[in-house]
Amino acid sequence: MKLYNSLTKRVEDFVPNTPGKVSMYTCGPTVYHFAHIGNLRSYLMEDVLEKLLRFSGYDVKRVMNITDVGHLSSDADTGEDKMLKGAKREHKTVMEIAKFYTDAFFADCAKLNIKTPDVVEPATNCIPEFIHMIEVLLEKGYAYKAGPNVYFDTSKLDDYFVFGSQDEKELMVGVRDDVTEDANKRNKNDFVLWFTQSKFEDQALKWDSPWGVGYPGWHIECSCISMKHLGEYMDIHCGGVDNIFPHHTNEIAQSESYIGHKWCNYWFHVHHLNDETGKMSKSKGEFLTVSLLEEKGYDPLAYRLFTLQSHYRKPLVFTYDALDQAAATYKKLKNRIASIPEDGSVDEAAKTEWHGRFAETVGNDVNTAMGLTLVYDVLKSDLNGATKRAVIDDFDYVLGLKLLEAGSEEKEDDNAVSPEFAAHVEEKIAERAAAKKEKNFALADEIRAALLAEGVVLEDTREGVKWHLS
Ligand code: AMP
Ligand code: ZN
Repeated sequence: MKLYNSLTKRVEDFVPNTPGKVSMYTCGPTVYHFAHIGNLRSYLMEDVLEKLLRFSGYDVKRVMNITDVGHLSSDADTGEDKMLKGAKREHKTVMEIAKFYTDAFFADCAKLNIKTPDVVEPATNCIPEFIHMIEVLLEKGYAYKAGPNVYFDTSKLDDYFVFGSQDEKELMVGVRDDVTEDANKRNKNDFVLWFTQSKFEDQALKWDSPWGVGYPGWHIECSCISMKHLGEYMDIHCGGVDNIFPHHTNEIAQSESYIGHKWCNYWFHVHHLNDETGKMSKSKGEFLTVSLLEEKGYDPLAYRLFTLQSHYRKPLVFTYDALDQAAATYKKLKNRIASIPEDGSVDEAAKTEWHGRFAETVGNDVNTAMGLTLVYDVLKSDLNGATKRAVIDDFDYVLGLKLLEAGSEEKEDDNAVSPEFAAHVEEKIAERAAAKKEKNFALADEIRAALLAEGVVLEDTREGVKWHLS
């Protein structure tokens, strides 16, 4: 298998630390709001990478954190605490927000057929581990206390900018919002390991530490959580390109100073999904979520297909026209597969040969578009019907498009639910109507989102509220 490595900026042969085994870490979501479909592009491509590794015979252990503390509006330690912002917006506690949006994130992932990583660990579970790592960094002279905070001293490293030139990085910091100078820092790029005397008087989550009551910086989370579950040598670390600097640069600085040797060999970064005006965001333009696409009548897997059609290292522009095309392609492809004749028995030798072809083709730096082409090649081939189905089913482990499942038009009966469930849905619809009447739109939206998480889509029509399964 070949992978582009952001550290070396080359496509390299993938060689794990332990033959046959892969340790893989993914920066998880900051759970202060719904994930937008841009965030989910990153998680989708990371899901494909994990499944491709398994498809190629590796035993994979994948870990993901949940950021429920420490992530400020700017990745460079300034601005408002994102979780606090979410709690204020919805008049809830930070932990309520964290629970609600963690559940919503995994509900979205399930709709996109993204596998849950083997280990999922919220940052608030690991405070003693963060404190320990910071203590060691202070002992070794890589960190210092200044003013109310503990900082990492980037001047102690020979090469802090491991991913590229300083100029490039400064350019990236320059475009971030809210970047202000912190007078306590010894060097411009030093970053906070532990905050005390929070500048937010109402900081919700605080813990005792040797440096006073406070809370961890964002970057330390990923260093500690990955090492807790994967040890000191890691094969692949994933994230979106915006994580390269400062987040991943800081993770490497801390981790390697702490362990005293190289930490992770391959860095896999997914490029952004943009809208027509630029990088997608939660605060500007239409907030594009999986639920919104569903409300507009799209199958979430049509969005999965849309992302698979292009390479993960290229920016991708989202438009409804492009999604319409992907949805049409998806429907046609499923119909073609559904019409494969039921003949013959599976030719195991041919299946193995196609398996190898897929592993090699898609394994060339996660070439998902070529993977889709191979599905059409199988359809056009002279394999018998049983073998075609078996080969496509095999590929679909990686593609995750549920290609052999009946299309929505054929599975009308699947919409049948138990009377208890129908009564539960009707009760929630009534609660939502009451909330709307009292102009409590936040509660109304919450009820709609909770139903959606259970697979129920509501439609407000002139005849009243209608519902169907997603
Ligand atoms: P966050 O919840 O903000 O920490 O982001 C979750 C993940 O989504 C991170 O890996 C980001 O790098 C990634 N991400 C953020 N914006 C986009 C985007 N527009 N397209 C693709 N990935 C993104
Ligand atoms: Zn991270």
